[in-house]
Amino acid sequence: MRTALVDHTGRILRKRKTTTAISEGPDRTSERLIAECRSLIDEARLMGGEIQAIGLGVAGKINRSQGLVVFSPNLPSMRNYPLAGKLEEGVGIPVVIENDANVFGVGEHIAGTARGIENWIGITLGTGVGGCLILRNEIWIGDDLGFVGEIGHTIVQPEGRLCLCGSSGCLEAYASGWALVAGVKEAAASGDLSSGPLYDLWESGKLTAEGVYRCAKENDSEALQLFHRMGWALGLAIANQFTVLGIRHAILGGGVSAGWDCFIHPLKESLARHSSMLSADDMVVLKSTLGDEAALIGAAFLAINRE
Ligand SMILES: [Zn+2]
Repeated sequence: MRTALVDHTGRILRKRKTTTAISEGPDRTSERLIAECRSLIDEARLMGGEIQAIGLGVAGKINRSQGLVVFSPNLPSMRNYPLAGKLEEGVGIPVVIENDANVFGVGEHIAGTARGIENWIGITLGTGVGGCLILRNEIWIGDDLGFVGEIGHTIVQPEGRLCLCGSSGCLEAYASGWALVAGVKEAAASGDLSSGPLYDLWESGKLTAEGVYRCAKENDSEALQLFHRMGWALGLAIANQFTVLGIRHAILGGGVSAGWDCFIHPLKESLARHSSMLSADDMVVLKSTLGDEAALIGAAFLAINRE
């Protein structure tokens, strides 16, 4: 859980990070969030300021008009939960809620790599894969169904690896933090991985996506292959979106985008191969420069500009 104090110009004045135990249940998570916000509100007062609103970005399906978390893959026990209302009650300040990839999109658009790009697709590579669409300088919300731009759950491999959403072969099942870990487990189970740094990491029981990246940097062939597959899957998914929407910019963020140097070349090859309408030179894939600050700035911007 990341929280920040942001001023009217989009500048981050304080930034915090705390862990949440998903087993604690939604009420406890909500109480922790309230405590974090109260503490930041106190800090703002000490600095002579006053908090006007809170912007909240949550992974998953969101009902923004009712302030509900309909479903969150990161917080499975939070179903149809009035998180925005609880926070508003707890701190006495207006709260707006939005999907986490959308707040990333807003942040990138006003203060990051996407400044000045009118139409683009955003992809957040983290534990899962989130996505957003910025069309004509605005977040596209479609029919306001609670989800939009969910590129992570578009299919890149029919009947492929089972995804956490219940489908098979989703982009997320090849391009997320959990997918990198699942790939190592599969390779170890099938006997394709039996020695080397990645195997040692798997054996130690301390396997993480970051660990897979470190092994790729040490030229472990299995780790490199997992990043290659990730790039291939991303290129395919982005090519499909560019073709449908008639746009040519994509911006990638999230913690797993730190593995950029290991997946960008296969991504570009795959993008060129899977796009017959655009030439490779016309397509632009950029890395977010704001890191985890994009979502914080974006959420604050939505709060400041609430209706
Ligand atoms: Zn899926």
